[in-house]
Amino acid sequence: MFFADVIVDISHEKVDRPFQYRIPERLQDRISIGVCVWVPFGQGNKMTQGYVIDVTEECHFDPAKMKEISSLSKDGVTVESRLIQLAGWIRENYGSTMIQALKTVLPAKRSVQKLLIRKVERRASREAVIAALGEAGRKKQYAKEKLLRELLDNEVLPYEWIVGKLGVSAAAVRSLEKAEILSVVTESGYRNPVGERKREGTRNRLSPAQQHIVDSVLEDYDKGIRKTYLIHGITGSGKTEVYMSLIEQVVARGKQAIFLIPEISLTYQTLVRFYQRFGDRVSLINSTLSAGEKYDQCQRARNREIDVIIGPRSALFTPFPEIGLIVIDEEHEGSYKSENSPKYHARETAEEVARLHGASVVLGSATPSLEAYYRARTGKYGLFQLNERLTGGSLPEVHMVDLREELKAGNRSIFSRRLQELLGDRLEKGEQSMLFLNRRGYAGFLSCRSCGYVVKCPHCDVSLSEHGGGRMVCHYCGYETARVTVCPQCGSRYISGFRAGTQQIEEKLQELFPAARILRMDADTTRTKGSYEKILSAFAGGEADVLIGTQMIVKGHDFPRVTLVGIIAADLSLSVGDFRAGERTFQLLTQAAGRAGRGESPGEVVIQTYQPEHYALVHASHQDYESFYQEEILYREMLSYPPVAHMLAVQIFASQEEAGLELAGKLAEAARGFIDERESVEKRLLLMGPAPASIGRINDIFRFVFYLKYADYGTLLQIKNALEKLLEEQPLKKESVQFDFDPMNTM
Ligand code: ADP
Ligand code: ZN
Ligand code: ZN
Repeated sequence: MFFADVIVDISHEKVDRPFQYRIPERLQDRISIGVCVWVPFGQGNKMTQGYVIDVTEECHFDPAKMKEISSLSKDGVTVESRLIQLAGWIRENYGSTMIQALKTVLPAKRSVQKLLIRKVERRASREAVIAALGEAGRKKQYAKEKLLRELLDNEVLPYEWIVGKLGVSAAAVRSLEKAEILSVVTESGYRNPVGERKREGTRNRLSPAQQHIVDSVLEDYDKGIRKTYLIHGITGSGKTEVYMSLIEQVVARGKQAIFLIPEISLTYQTLVRFYQRFGDRVSLINSTLSAGEKYDQCQRARNREIDVIIGPRSALFTPFPEIGLIVIDEEHEGSYKSENSPKYHARETAEEVARLHGASVVLGSATPSLEAYYRARTGKYGLFQLNERLTGGSLPEVHMVDLREELKAGNRSIFSRRLQELLGDRLEKGEQSMLFLNRRGYAGFLSCRSCGYVVKCPHCDVSLSEHGGGRMVCHYCGYETARVTVCPQCGSRYISGFRAGTQQIEEKLQELFPAARILRMDADTTRTKGSYEKILSAFAGGEADVLIGTQMIVKGHDFPRVTLVGIIAADLSLSVGDFRAGERTFQLLTQAAGRAGRGESPGEVVIQTYQPEHYALVHASHQDYESFYQEEILYREMLSYPPVAHMLAVQIFASQEEAGLELAGKLAEAARGFIDERESVEKRLLLMGPAPASIGRINDIFRFVFYLKYADYGTLLQIKNALEKLLEEQPLKKESVQFDFDPMNTM
């Protein structure tokens, strides 16, 4: 007798364990891992859909009392075993329910109306068509004549084209159908969100450096070697061209490819390049597609109607039968990590998909994540460098402005003297400028405007955040101290948070340059759909002299007329209470600087800061990744932060503050118990916290967090499993717990 472990598709923590069902004789050879079935569930034996996650001959309890699988589900997309396997891996490695993991990887089962495609087929002989053509000509029926002429050359024509482009009325088509010259046939098809586009012949001949990468990866591939490669190359160095060649070669070997991009940097130019190369064998998945369109892209992938999919991290779960290559562009982007449980990272998950399919992985970035570069440096990844911009344009000149000096000189404005002078110059010459406020993750740190001193946690070496009640708090370990009012380093009273927003910058700039035409892009001005694109294209079209904005403005778009980029306060992203602050700042500044001087005239960049000597700023100003990496990795090593060690964040959500705190304490204590048991292990496991999250309450839900750091991921997994078990044994009432491995942000 055979039994199936079935996961029931109900979104509730309780069902995160398989239920065993008997497999009836008649279904025996049709049940396997990944099949979608109907089963009677619960007290009332309600018919419920489930996924088979295992088939065994062992039964866990009395087979006589065991219920039976009723039938196979006829519901559209069947679940494939690889995706189920992948869900299992995600569940284990990131911590979530199996149901959540399954929902992450499986395409939304949605019964959508099939798109109907109408075609016109010739039914009569050529002679009959010629006769009809003569008749139409005599009767001056020009529309019919046009259609008949087309039918002479083509047996089949798209109906939409006939009534659209060709301009023949539906009535004319009907009358020819009546005369049995043609018939209108209806077929079901898939929605293709991009429409079909022709391939065009022109393509670049790869440079020797590009060719070397393509050859090396393919040589490995053909030898059966599968691994991950990192291409470190500045913007414009030809990475995309390399990706396309590799994809083309892998497709030629009968496989499919996934091309991941951060959603925000998916530009029209990139799409067009892919369509020109791959025609209608490439498709796109992104958040603007309807559920039906997404579903259709999955169907097309499953049926091998496309070879390449482009999309954000969720495109990893495209149900291709045989994936040969996964490319992740801009792999350092934070958006590759899911913010919801399961908090998977696309990089590692891509490697698991690749393992399941026997595929290779290629990562690319101008500013690689510490994770990827560390693995490349330690030999785990293959490393390639592309050092030359193929499109010309020189690197911009960077001016570092010390804001402490500005204060000394009596300038209290947001704009340094240098920035004011250069802005004026650009306005005079009719060139464009961008002002950038890197505000994301801003957590109210305190710094001294006289000497640049930043108040930091003595245990974690990250900035303390200002809280109500005159306190400063560390969001890793919970360390708390009274807010300082005098700078501990120089005694100045100018110690405060930085409060200027984009709107204030706009006002001050307008005061300074009343004639300047200014556009602002931030969360406020991009609330409505399409406003983001509208602002960017207005700026690209020269409708403004200055664009002020947050992170959003540094990505994706090319503005050849921009010759000045000003970074208002580099310290904002440098001093968030997060161990990745230096890395993120380096990336942002490098990207922002890359915005200046894309065109003919060389660009200039002004970086305003209280800490001009900070290594992330110094190396960013020279666009020197390698030196930045060397210093950053030392810091990570010293404090056991990823990628040198691993970090597990345990996040607790509770509607009652007391209950949340109690649960956090209990879990942390359990984790600590685990640490004591293993004290003999030479590299010590570190526990930080519990502490209130950086946003301590959202929608009346209190949030707490504690962190575990350890060199070995497996040990952290064991701890996570032990904590999950503890939670299972003592079910939660209103609280909930989430796990986040190697977190991208402090919670
Ligand atoms: P990246 O992805 O690193 O930003 P791209 O592949 O987009 O770089 O290349 C930048 C520009 O250089 C593009 O306009 C591209 O068409 C062009 N380009 C890339 N490779 C070559 C080549 N081998 N010869 C000529 N132009 C190239
Ligand atoms: Zn000071
Ligand atoms: Zn701390």
